[in-house]
Formats: sequence, structure tokens, C-alpha cells
Amino acid sequence: MIEFHEVHKSYESGGATIEALKGVTLNVHRGDIFGVIGLSGAGKSTLLRTVNRLEQPTSGRVIVDGNDLSVLSVKHLRSLKKNIGMIFQQFNLLSTKTVFENVAMPLRLGTTSHKEIQERVGELLSFVGLTEKAQSYPNQLSGGQKQRVGIARALATNPSILLSDEATSALDPQTTASILELLTRVNEEYNVTILMITHEMNVIKEVCNRVAVMEQGAVVEQGNVLEVFANP
Ligand code: ADP
Ligand code: ADP
Repeated sequence: MIEFHEVHKSYESGGATIEALKGVTLNVHRGDIFGVIGLSGAGKSTLLRTVNRLEQPTSGRVIVDGNDLSVLSVKHLRSLKKNIGMIFQQFNLLSTKTVFENVAMPLRLGTTSHKEIQERVGELLSFVGLTEKAQSYPNQLSGGQKQRVGIARALATNPSILLSDEATSALDPQTTASILELLTRVNEEYNVTILMITHEMNVIKEVCNRVAVMEQGAVVEQGNVLEVFANP
């Protein structure tokens, strides 16, 4: 579903070259909740962002649903991006828009009819348990509720892939648990393959079936969660 082949990424910064990714090869299968874990600076975020082209690899290939991103036309890239939702550590909601409008936003950018938007957003708010908050603004919500809005918005265009960038890192343990439970339901009920990055081991153990461990731009270990973390 998502294949990384020998992906390299260098940043030029103040005359120095930083090698953020040093030849990453990974396969995320359809239906996975795939976790990438590593310390800050390991390259996790850069890797995640190559999947929806927020970053472009310096070399190597990223293949999503059989499409090599480096050779896709702008038009195909746009339709591919609709198939990929993303959630963030700081939620990235629009503070001047209601919960309803935050979730509706990706649909308002497209050709979806007024009626379909009402239905789709209503369904998603119900799914994440925020029907009552449709007219609230982000600053009236708890962190966990904000992330629920983020998840509903990420699902608006009915994607088959969800990218999660430290989605629970700003939340307390109890709220983290409820968001992880929701992500499991996203995976199972909406058939969404999830690629998540985190620095928290318990997050991986809680929800992921497969994991890759990154250190300094490279994958140093990967496999089933039970196998990888069973190693002494
Ligand atoms: P992680 O998500 O694991 O914390 P990142 O992918 O954010 O790691 O960063 C990997 C390395 O690339 C770090 O050394 C970081 O400082 C560097 N880096 C990330 N983005 C940029 C950028 N836009 N310009 C320069 N260096 C960057
Ligand atoms: P417009 O035609 O001006 O886009 P809408 O009828 O789509 O207006 O929505 C008006 C406001 O009502 C929007 O800001 C939206 O937040 C809210 N709204 C629309 N439908 C619902 C719904 N099913 N549940 C809650 N709020 C809704």
C-alpha cells in the first residue's frame, strides 16, 4: 500500500548538509496500523511527509497504491492526496471556524454538494462522538476533543490512508487511550491503513500491528510489534 524504496532526503541548512533519511526501505501493507518510533531528529516526520508530498525525497521512490509519486502528474497527485488524510500533534484546526466547518473544509475545496457535505460531516461528527459540539469553536474544546475534530476532518474525503504525526503527544494518558481506541475504529470500520510516527513506545504497543525503529535517518529494526519488542 505504501512502499519506500531506498529513500534519501538531505536538507541544506546554513552551508551544512543534513541527511534526514539515509536509504529507508519499508513496506506498509493494506490494513496495517504501522508505527514508526524513534528519538527526536531520527527522521520520522520527514519520512511521513514524503507520503503526501509535503517533502520530496532527494533520491529513492515512494509508491502509494501502486503509484510512484515521483512520476505522477500534478492532477494525479491531487487525486492521490485526497486519498490520504493527516492528523497532527497540535491538531492544526482553524480557530475562527466551527467544528462543523473545520470538518467540512476539505469537502468545501472540492465539488461535493451542499447536501452531501451536511450528511458526511454529520456522520463523521457522530462517529467521533462530537455531534453536540458542531457549533463550538476549537478554543471551547479539550485537547482530546480537538484531536477528534482533526480525525473527522482527516476522514472527510474518505481516504484509504491516514498519516498520524505524534497525534497523542500533547495529550494526557487517559485521553491518549481514548484517541488510540478511536484510531483502531478508524482502521477497522473505515478500512483505513494508518501510518503513525511517535516517540512513545506505549502508543505502538497499544495499537500497532507492525513497527519500524528509526535511528539517525535509518530503519534499524522492523517487524511485528510482538517480535520486535520481545527482543531482550
Ligand atoms: P523526527 O520526526 O524523528 O524528529 P525529523 O524528520 O523532523 O525527525 O528531522 C530529521 C532531521 O532533519 C533533523 O536533524 C532535523 O533537524 C532535520 N530537518 C528536518 N526538517 C528540516 C528542514 N526543513 N531544514 C533543515 N533540516 C531539517
Ligand atoms: P452555507 O450555505 O452558508 O454554507 P450551511 O447551511 O452549510 O451554510 O451551514 C450554516 C452553518 O450551520 C455552518 O457554519 C455550519 O457550521 C452549520 N451546520 C450546517 N449543517 C450542520 C449540521 N448538520 N450540524 C451542525 N451544524 C451544521
